Amino acid sequence: MPRKKSSPKSKTKTAAKTRTGKREKEAEPAPGRPVCPECGSTRIRRDYTRGEVYCEKCGTVIEENIIDSGPEWRAFDASQREKRVRTGAPIRYTLANKGLSTEIDMYYRDFRGVKISAEQRAAVTRMRKWHKRTSVSSSMERNLTVALNELERISSLLGLSPNLREAAALLYRKAVSKGLIRGRLIESVVAAVVYIICRQYNIPRTLDEIAEVSGMSKKEIGRVYRFLKADLGISMPLTNPVHYVPRFASELKLSG
Ligand SMILES: [Zn+2]
Repeated sequence: MPRKKSSPKSKTKTAAKTRTGKREKEAEPAPGRPVCPECGSTRIRRDYTRGEVYCEKCGTVIEENIIDSGPEWRAFDASQREKRVRTGAPIRYTLANKGLSTEIDMYYRDFRGVKISAEQRAAVTRMRKWHKRTSVSSSMERNLTVALNELERISSLLGLSPNLREAAALLYRKAVSKGLIRGRLIESVVAAVVYIICRQYNIPRTLDEIAEVSGMSKKEIGRVYRFLKADLGISMPLTNPVHYVPRFASELKLSG
């Protein structure tokens, strides 16, 4: 793609033009989105290999020598990447401990990767066992573990993406912290939470489907759903039938 560097002279000229002319009004950009000073296009790209910000439409270089905020190292496979990153994985609500607790892996090797001795092996086995037992201690944590496993199970049956699972897990945690779970079946709460998330994110899953995979009745899920909706102050978008069309069409094996 041809690129031209915009001279400061031409920049000031267009800026003056847009300030006085009515061109400014027609191309009102969304706030926070960069706009090309030459052509008004919002197709601005950051090229980190060249250190430039440029307009994809006309090729104007808007900014030079930009700083790459990515890592300064390279990794050629997953194990290298794992060794070189200096942070842990992001917090995950789908894990009972949010992925923040210590994990003892299943390999009998020390941190250099050398195999450990037989006596130490026994100690590590014991440590691992007690670590597992103590990490899920209170009844609430146990409840959460069961619920998140159930969430994982029905989400995979419904084919929900990891992002949706995270959203559902977060909503379930909210319900737990407000004490809304007490006296209810975990399975029915999880099913209702999944139903709410599917509706909120416009994912076409019917109540019938969720009832089928969760093994709970529609009536029960509906009851918990209404209860959660009222107590958590959730506003629901109306279901748009359009979202169901592609799925049902492919299930009925209809042509495009
Ligand atoms: Zn441009």
